[in-house]
Parts: sequence; structure tokens; C-alpha cells
Amino acid sequence: MMCHQCDYHELLMSARLDATENRMRVLEVVGNNTSPLSADDIYKTLERSSAINRVTVYRILDALVAGGVLERLSTGGRAAYYGLAPNERHRSHPHFYCKQCGQMDCLSPESLSIQTESFWKTFPGRIDKVEVRVDGVCKNCLR
Ligand SMILES: [Zn+2]
Ligand SMILES: [Zn+2]
Repeated sequence: MMCHQCDYHELLMSARLDATENRMRVLEVVGNNTSPLSADDIYKTLERSSAINRVTVYRILDALVAGGVLERLSTGGRAAYYGLAPNERHRSHPHFYCKQCGQMDCLSPESLSIQTESFWKTFPGRIDKVEVRVDGVCKNCLR
């Protein structure tokens, strides 16, 4: 999901990552897209504007996920998608994954709410994130 208020430079700074040109480019591609992207999508988009090494893209994605700037969204299979991690200006929201075409879409934060508060209070361990993914077949594939 796009974040119109996110300051990418600031996000990198808060993750203690230098705002290198390539990190900014990766973040812009992910942050400006309306749905999560696979590492390959991100690489191909970047390649179009100027040459970049595939390994570099993967390394940057790992660093951004580790720094909590991006989140890696699992599909249940090998593929993973990347989106902006929830932050003050970007609310956590569920995703829909089409098992047929492999498209992942962002759902609005209000569309599906899971009451986690009491669980967070009583869970004896530490919870870092709650990922909500709805699997199914999208409307295009159903047609
Ligand atoms: Zn589909
Ligand atoms: Zn999303």
C-alpha cells in the first residue's frame, strides 16, 4: 500500500541505515507501489531505470527488513513479497494472496480486524508482529 506521508530518508535514518542511493531507490519502488512486490519485481523495475546488481537488491531488501523499514510477506510457498512495514504514518493492514495468479494485494486496515489486544496482554512471550494474510482466488482469476 502506498504511503503518501512516509519520508523514506527518515525511515532509513530511524533504522540506523545510511540513505545510500540504492537503498533509497529500493524503498521508493516498494513504497510507491499500490501492492506488495516480489524481489524479482523490484529488481526488474530498478533495472529499467539504471543498472543494478540482483545480489545488491536482495542484500538491500534483507537489510531493510532487518531494520524494520520493510516487511517480508509470506505466501505460504517459496515466494515472498515486500511492502512498507507498519509505522506511525502507515497502518498495519491485512493482505490478500491469490493462489492462482500469485498476486498479492493490500486490504484496507478496516476491512478485517482481528482483536489482538487481550492476546498481547496475556501472551507470556514477546510478539514482534502479527501478519494477517487471506488466501483465495482473486476476482480476475474467478472470471
Ligand atoms: Zn488471481
Ligand atoms: Zn500492504
